[in-house]
Amino acid sequence: MSKLKLDTDVRYISGVGSARAAALARMGVTDVRSLLRHFPRAYQHRGKISALADAEHGEVGSFLVTIAAPPKTARLKGRMTVTKVGAFDETRNCTLIFFNQPYMQDVFKTGATYRIWGKVQMRIGFVEIVSPDYEPWYEGIKLPEFTPLYPLTQGITNKYLTKIIRTALDNTELTDEDDPLPLPVRERAGAEPLEAALRGIHCPDTYSMMDRARRRFVFEELYTFALGVSLQRRHKVEATGPVFRRCDMDRFTSQLDFTLTGAQKRVVSEIENDVCDPGAIPMNRMVSGDVGCGKTVCAAAAIYMAVANGYQAALMAPTAILASQHYADLSELFGRLGIEIELLIGSTPAAKKRKIKERLASGDLRVVVGTHALISDGVEFCEPGLFVTDEQHRFGVMQRAALAKKARGGLTPHVLVMSATPIPRTLALILYGDLAVSRVDEMPPGRQKVSTFAVDESYRDRMNGFIRKQAQEGRQVYIVCPAIEAEEKDEDGSSGGIVGLGYRAGDDDQPRLKSAVEYERNLREVVFPDLRVALMHGKMKPSEKESVMAAFTRGEIDVLVSTTVIEVGVNVPNASLMIVENAERFGLSQLHQLRGRVGRGKYKSWCILVSDSKGKTARERLDVMCETNDGYKIAQRDLEIRGPGDYFAGENGARQSGENGLALASMAADMDDLTLAFNCASDTLAADPDLVLPENRGLARLVDKFLDVTTGTAN
Ligand code: ADP
Ligand code: MG
Repeated sequence: MSKLKLDTDVRYISGVGSARAAALARMGVTDVRSLLRHFPRAYQHRGKISALADAEHGEVGSFLVTIAAPPKTARLKGRMTVTKVGAFDETRNCTLIFFNQPYMQDVFKTGATYRIWGKVQMRIGFVEIVSPDYEPWYEGIKLPEFTPLYPLTQGITNKYLTKIIRTALDNTELTDEDDPLPLPVRERAGAEPLEAALRGIHCPDTYSMMDRARRRFVFEELYTFALGVSLQRRHKVEATGPVFRRCDMDRFTSQLDFTLTGAQKRVVSEIENDVCDPGAIPMNRMVSGDVGCGKTVCAAAAIYMAVANGYQAALMAPTAILASQHYADLSELFGRLGIEIELLIGSTPAAKKRKIKERLASGDLRVVVGTHALISDGVEFCEPGLFVTDEQHRFGVMQRAALAKKARGGLTPHVLVMSATPIPRTLALILYGDLAVSRVDEMPPGRQKVSTFAVDESYRDRMNGFIRKQAQEGRQVYIVCPAIEAEEKDEDGSSGGIVGLGYRAGDDDQPRLKSAVEYERNLREVVFPDLRVALMHGKMKPSEKESVMAAFTRGEIDVLVSTTVIEVGVNVPNASLMIVENAERFGLSQLHQLRGRVGRGKYKSWCILVSDSKGKTARERLDVMCETNDGYKIAQRDLEIRGPGDYFAGENGARQSGENGLALASMAADMDDLTLAFNCASDTLAADPDLVLPENRGLARLVDKFLDVTTGTAN
């Protein structure tokens, strides 16, 4: 095969035909560049060989076994077959078992040695390993230390992907110009060159190689992010916004069921000063405040100002559940004020969607609440005056360019971002720069502190007893699990034992993940057959999620087992107990969000964080949760302990701005790197403001891609 270049089409890699190329394209892999940037999501540490005698039931691991006798295949019911292969290592015997793979007969030769990877099943008196992965082992020839696990798609196996990535790595000429990180930046950041980093990420020999490679790509992302944000910021300065007249806010406040707190009044007047600014600079403000402090009503006040001035307003929420809830709350309030509002989410029927879009474009409809469908779905406004986004750790900046495109008559709408997670000041300054921040730093009267406890497995029975007691008293319970289904299986059916990309040298251990599906089934069928237990997770259809949530809101469900889909904004005042399983897996700010789902009504509320992690950092973090209910303190501590990675996470920890990037969320990139990335970006832009110099070509491409993604469908 002739030498490949980064721009070479994947079809020129040996082993890639047109069917495979089409499958790869579904994952965004079209050329050598995108193939090499298809990073593993985790690794199996197969170089760490265990002894069979030490293996425990259910353990997944790597074993070095020698075949004892020729394999035997037997027929089971119907067409099923089972092939059994007797093998041994230095410590004991075992049997490898393969179902419906009679050709395995011819694979294993008596006396040959294999490195196998699979799950150990202890039977009385013997050890079985079902459908292990196997690699022939020869004295003196080293097998790869880590096996990468790639995100896959139909028709593309992990083995295949590993092979073609290897081929691409071995046959691609990489020059210094191919590295999108300019040399001075790379040197300043102490980041590895592209070629070494690609090897380190795809076929590391050691953890430190893996870590160095990962750090380089994380830095590259931070730096690209910094450039993208800086470029967007520059674009924005030239904008002109609509100038509102001050209006009679008593009319608005008189329709509320409560009186605004001092903090809320202050925030509303800060908003008013922005939107009524005769300088016509569009507002760009974040309303930040702890969970439950009442940010929504501040946004509602801003919407009222826009409408009273003859403009349209939109409120965008990160999930359909949250958008529906905002809609329910706001339509009641605005109904009293004689202002019509509509809901536009993915599941809105097509005819209704069309109607809403028409009415927004004609100006007939003044207020809309929705999800990202609002920016991605070809929605046009007639006289847009205000966009409110209610987002979690997402970056308002990212949507701003997209929103600006919606401007009419040259006026850029005002933007208000409600941040459910109080973002530490240092980070806000770096990320948003010119974004003004209003703090709602006072809770509505009568709120109770949520008592928080960190417990381990030994409390399971007591905890279940407590759940029952709460349900019997008429309260409701949330249980959050980190995974949807039982541990992810790779293609060979083996599972677990993997090193996630979030792994950092020094992390102590990784307890087994609780899955919502299994957990819910067990609770419903075994533990609480007498209670109403239900399940909700991200893979369910939006309409299913909405109906579960609606049932929970009506009090028709006692115990709701879910993933973090309930994280943001859900408001059910009758819920009094939040349990988080594998609490070590969540960021502190995320835990704080989850905890904020309870204690929203008049009932005494609790939060129980369950974790079997013995890690020092994990314990320290959970202790922070138990000690304080102050979201700012928690966010600050999170930043100190974990770095700003959390703030880069979208729903379920996935990275917001791209499909194949490293999940920065789990990277725990540190604050120094982020600051450094911004400093480097500002130097780069000072020397080459539009990134047109030849040495910045690779960089310009990355930044373009970043801006594309972030202004497109972010959700
Ligand atoms: P968050 O800031 O977390 O988005 P919300 O805006 O959802 O909080 O408000 C939480 C709850 O507090 C809502 O039920 C809301 O009606 C109520 N609330 C907001 N402001 C006040 C207030 N000044 N007095 C009493 N209740 C309030
Ligand atoms: Mg909210």
